[in-house]
Amino acid sequence: MQKNPGPNKTQAFLDICHQHQLKITPQREVIYRELLKSDTHPTADTIYQIVKGKYPNISYDTVNRTLLTFAEIGVVDVIEIFGGAKRFDPNIKNHHHLHCIQCGKIIDFQSRAYDNLKVPKGLRAKFRVISKRVVLRGICKACLA
Ligand SMILES: [Zn+2]
Ligand SMILES: [Zn+2]
Repeated sequence: MQKNPGPNKTQAFLDICHQHQLKITPQREVIYRELLKSDTHPTADTIYQIVKGKYPNISYDTVNRTLLTFAEIGVVDVIEIFGGAKRFDPNIKNHHHLHCIQCGKIIDFQSRAYDNLKVPKGLRAKFRVISKRVVLRGICKACLA
């Protein structure tokens, strides 16, 4: 299942790159496009395997560095998985995750109720929350079947 990369997202990507004076090379563009198409929050290695098919000379290091640069300028999000490789998320809007503990897939979902979760009072004194994301861990439909 692949999401259709909307023209808006690509435009936002180009705008942010431009703001940060990041040159848009064909390689960078293809890395971003492949990330956008994927809905499983791939690792740098997964993206590398796909991009290599189109650019056989590209190195893993280039792909990894490009993804980290994207994260730095804010066009993608990095998801740290405890004990696992970093995963990249092209969806930088507020959303939540379903994490399948069997296949490792991470699926986006929206929930107004979770967006509006209140930060417990005791925490506010010692921590300034800048974003909230709920992660539900479990087993996806494909793995259950
Ligand atoms: Zn699964
Ligand atoms: Zn996500």
